Amino acid sequence: MQVIDNLVGGKKQRSASTRNAPVFNPATGEQTAELPLSTAVELDAAVAVAKAAQVAWGDTPPLKRARVMFRFKDLLEQNADRIARAISAEHGKTHDDALGEVQRGLEVVEFACGIPHLLKGEYSKNVGPAIDSYSDRQPLGVVAGITPFNFPCMVPLWMYPVAIACGNAFILKPSEKDPGAAMLVAELLHEAGLPAGLLNVVHGDKEIVDAILAHPDIKAVSFVGSTPIASYVYATGTANGKRVQALGGAKNHMVIMPDADMDKAADALMGAGYGSAGERCMAVSVAVPIGEKTADSLIEALAPRVRALKIGPATDREAEMGPLVTKQHLDKVSGYIDKGVAEGAKLVVDGRGFKLQGYEGGYFIGGTLFDHVDKEMTIYREEIFGPVLSVLRAGSYDEAVRLINAHEFGNGTAIFTRDGDAARSFADKIEAGMVGINVPIPVPVAYHSFGGWKRSIFGDHAIYGPEGVRFYTRIKTITSRWPDGIKSGAVFNFPTM
Ligand code: NAD
Repeated sequence: MQVIDNLVGGKKQRSASTRNAPVFNPATGEQTAELPLSTAVELDAAVAVAKAAQVAWGDTPPLKRARVMFRFKDLLEQNADRIARAISAEHGKTHDDALGEVQRGLEVVEFACGIPHLLKGEYSKNVGPAIDSYSDRQPLGVVAGITPFNFPCMVPLWMYPVAIACGNAFILKPSEKDPGAAMLVAELLHEAGLPAGLLNVVHGDKEIVDAILAHPDIKAVSFVGSTPIASYVYATGTANGKRVQALGGAKNHMVIMPDADMDKAADALMGAGYGSAGERCMAVSVAVPIGEKTADSLIEALAPRVRALKIGPATDREAEMGPLVTKQHLDKVSGYIDKGVAEGAKLVVDGRGFKLQGYEGGYFIGGTLFDHVDKEMTIYREEIFGPVLSVLRAGSYDEAVRLINAHEFGNGTAIFTRDGDAARSFADKIEAGMVGINVPIPVPVAYHSFGGWKRSIFGDHAIYGPEGVRFYTRIKTITSRWPDGIKSGAVFNFPTM
């Protein structure tokens, strides 16, 4: 059985922990690796290494730091196929989807190549007589990231290229469900020339997360995962005096206006609802057609598409959707479908009981479609994180907006329409952090920033892009004058101009 090591001080290190977690191939249900769950003592050692390495790195010219990112980008491109296979082996997503994940992570590395430009600061001459002032963005020191299972390569890349290019050292705690891809990518950054100690990977579960949140030398924590844990990480980390950005769960709605092109809207919903088996924080899990006629034609367009979904392991290059990540998650998603039926939603396509010949031990489930869902139902209120699309019929555009704005989550949302006025008003008034107009999954590109609203985020900064640079740096403002500018005599009044 393969044992997955930590990566500390640029070297693989076997954890001495006596607690382990199994890692599975979700397509077959076979255990493929054993993951030791590191201890707080092991985290301490990694933080000490990071703290020592950060001193020289923080003083390294930003351009030299960025050059490491240029080489990293090359290596990610050369190894994209290998990384995608590592992602699929533990997560289950299709190969093309995994390649897309690598590409979107790589784009943050491209952004990090240009970070010297964003660290320039501001300068003002003569803020007073012979007095000049400038501000500068300085690294925080050692920062940490805690990441979810659903993007094991991309989400870590949302964080550490930005943090490290800004001059920080980083501790990464990947998801224990699929830790392999994160390790592979971290090794490539060292191959690109990153000095030892600046990126350390320490695997584990709640014990390590709690140790990160309590560690006095960790100055900031980025978290991406489910809302209950995001809220806990934010409350605990900030109570311990850290900067925290904690991105949580989602329930993303897509409004389909009566004037929308129904075929295009249905195709968009298929990709956004069932791609990656619905295990995306930007997946569309609720379709909101406006008016009964729109709803009827939407169901008519969707039902055959959902029945025709090609489901298979990542090795099947024709597959459109893979298995769920674990047996527990499969049971949870099936349980939600049971609940939807029990609470009175109309089950149009039932994915329960789906079996794939030759992969009977895999965690597969078929695409599921519910109609006549209402806002009190559990399948509407809670994040399912599976290939289950709920159709909630709204009588009017205003009703759809009220519905979305009242939901506890506000990650992403979309509207499909040809009506520019409706689209413009939707973009302006809707309470969500990322809005798509005829774009079902509006994930911002790397030089913008990613973040939801409401209980989809805890903290003041969205992740990556310019917001990432602000999060991983602190501003210092220097006011200076030279002896010729200093007037003699003490001044006791508060200085004014
Ligand atoms: P999760 O919350 O279970 O785990 C995320 C991280 O927290 C993991 O590293 C895990 O080890 C750690 N963790 C789990 N339980 C913990 C506990 N009790 N105490 C401390 N740490 C704990 O999330 P997941 O199942 O890996 O990922 C899916 C979730 O992530 C979904 O809710 C999804 O919407 C969300 N997500 C959000 C975004 C976003 O940008 N908003 C992006 C991707 C995923």
